[in-house]
Amino acid sequence: MNEMCLFCGICRGAVAAQVIRQDEWTVSFRDINPVAPGHVLVVPRKHVPSAAQCDDPEMWGHLMCAVVETARAVGFEERGYRLVVNCGEEACQTIPHLHVHLLSGRRFSWPPG
Ligand code: AMP
Ligand code: ZN
Repeated sequence: MNEMCLFCGICRGAVAAQVIRQDEWTVSFRDINPVAPGHVLVVPRKHVPSAAQCDDPEMWGHLMCAVVETARAVGFEERGYRLVVNCGEEACQTIPHLHVHLLSGRRFSWPPG
């Protein structure tokens, strides 16, 4: 846990968020500035700054299972969804706490911008 970290604050309930699902390892909540009709963030409870610093297979496993379960819980499965993990400044990471963007509700393009 990092006192200064926004997503750590959400995980411990100190910062308000629209939490959808939580378990021992992860918290899923609505993105405050959605870029798709459905935009949810799934984060590990443990403070890890980015994907590049996450070397724990157990944590990755729980995080990805939580993403899939969250997608199911919010009804994204039928239409499909896109998962995005921005890692580092050039990839547009702005919050230094590992998070998976779960995006749905519109057609996405490829390659990503
Ligand atoms: P990234 O640019 O990949 O680091 O993504 C960070 C995401 O966090 C952005 O999509 C923001 O809209 C979102 N965000 C920032 N502050 C909050 C907040 N307080 N609650 C929910 N989402 C947030
Ligand atoms: Zn954090």
